[in-house]
Amino acid sequence: MKKLALIICITLFAACKEKSEPVVEEAADTEITSEETTQEPTKPEETEIWEPVPTKVNPTGNLGVPSDALVLFDGKNLDQWISAVDSTEAKWTINADGSMTVKDKTGDIQTKQNFGSVQLHLEWRSNPDNKQTNQNRSNSGVFFQNRYEVQVLDNNDNPTYVNGMVGSIYKQSIPLAMAAVPTGEWNTYDIIFHAPEFDLDGNKTKAGTLTVLLNGVLIQDHFELEGTTEYIGWPKNDAHGKGPIKLQDHQDMSGVSYRNIWVREL
Ligand code: MG
Repeated sequence: MKKLALIICITLFAACKEKSEPVVEEAADTEITSEETTQEPTKPEETEIWEPVPTKVNPTGNLGVPSDALVLFDGKNLDQWISAVDSTEAKWTINADGSMTVKDKTGDIQTKQNFGSVQLHLEWRSNPDNKQTNQNRSNSGVFFQNRYEVQVLDNNDNPTYVNGMVGSIYKQSIPLAMAAVPTGEWNTYDIIFHAPEFDLDGNKTKAGTLTVLLNGVLIQDHFELEGTTEYIGWPKNDAHGKGPIKLQDHQDMSGVSYRNIWVREL
C-alpha cells in the first residue's frame, strides 16, 4: 500500500512539474508586454513646430510681382542698371511695349546693386529677324555675380554645342530639356542662384549652385558650379564677394529683348 502511494506521489509531482514550465514562459511574455504598454504613444503635437513664422509675402502685391522683390526693370527706365564697360548709364533701347532690347556693341549692362544668393525672374525674346546660325542667333545671357552665365540663345532649328545651348550653364551643364517657345515669343526664366563660399585664405569651401526653370520646365536642377563660365579655357575659382547681375551684349546684332525683371535676395 505504501509503495502504491509513493508511486502516485511521484507521478503527480512529475505531472505538476511539466505543467508548470509553460506557465513560467507565459509570465515572461506578459512582463515584456507590460513594459511596452507603459510607454506613452507619440502625440501629433510633439512633431509640430510653430516658430519662427515665415514672413508674409504677397505673391503679386508689388505691381504684379512678389511684395518683397526688388524690381530691376518694369519697362519705364534703366535706373537700376549701368554699362558694364565703363559704369556710365546703360544704353540699351527701351521699347513702347515695356521691354528693352540689346543695343548692339554698346556692351553688357549690369545692376548697380551687388547681390549674393538670389531668386531671379526675367522674360526674354529672341529676335525673329536674326537668321544667323549656331552661337550667333539671338545670343545673350544672364550672369550672376558677373561670373556665372545662364545662356540665352535661339536654338529653334539652330543646333549648337549642347553645353552652350539655351538653358545651359555655359560650357558646364547641358540643360535637362529644350523648353524654349517659338522664335519671337516671350520666354520666362526663373532662376535660383546660391553663391559660392570662400574661406579667408581664398579657398572655395562651398560650390555655388544654379537651379533654372525655362517656361516653368526644370532645366537645371541644383547644379554645382565648377567655377566661372569661360568662353575659352576652364572654370576659375578666384575668391569673390557679392556681385552684379549682368545681361550680355554678344555684339553680333542679336536683337534680344528683356522685360519684367525682378529679384529676391535669399
Ligand atoms: Mg551668351
